[in-house]
Amino acid sequence: MRPSSDVLLVVDVQYDFMPGGALAVPYGDEVIAPINRLAAHFSHVVLTQDWHPANHASFAVNHPGGQPFSRAHMPYGEQVLWPAHCVQGTQGAQLHEALDIAHARLVIRKGHHANVDSYSAFVEADRTTPTGLTGYLRETGVKRVYCCGLATDYCVAWTALDARACGFEAFVIEDASRPIDLDGSLEAAWLQLTDLGVERLLVDEVLGHALA
Ligand SMILES: [Zn+2]
Repeated sequence: MRPSSDVLLVVDVQYDFMPGGALAVPYGDEVIAPINRLAAHFSHVVLTQDWHPANHASFAVNHPGGQPFSRAHMPYGEQVLWPAHCVQGTQGAQLHEALDIAHARLVIRKGHHANVDSYSAFVEADRTTPTGLTGYLRETGVKRVYCCGLATDYCVAWTALDARACGFEAFVIEDASRPIDLDGSLEAAWLQLTDLGVERLLVDEVLGHALA
């Protein structure tokens, strides 16, 4: 079992990101088995949940003439406009019931401010509003953050980059994550992750570390 200083951060494994969901990530359901396998080896697991009000600024439907997957300029920068997804209290916003992580210690909800998105579990897209996760991880003695879930090139990547920026060792577990890959976003994310010192691992490598 990994020590409490190693956290497994499971990003947005919710029905709206599953095949058939409102913002389906291709093969998104394939993350569940490897995440369950990982979680059995981590004493410290934190889950994130994308959690938007219906009037959220990231929804194309809330912009006149806005088309899903187009881009809009927001006060905080460019924003991809998404189909409405993970609306607070809906079935699509629920964590997938096949996640077998009863010992998860914290569920952090993000994207709950109507006017700003939050791909990252640490800092919202205005890059100034913290979610509180940094303080929680520091106070609980975390040193290493292992990120997985959906989607590799958005919420997982932004979360891992911010974990690194907050001074944690950060990892993305590639085969426990799946990408959206919009206009080359996956390759760009891996370049940025590597540049900024986030390590890319496979599930077997993570579990191998545990045995070392
Ligand atoms: Zn969202």
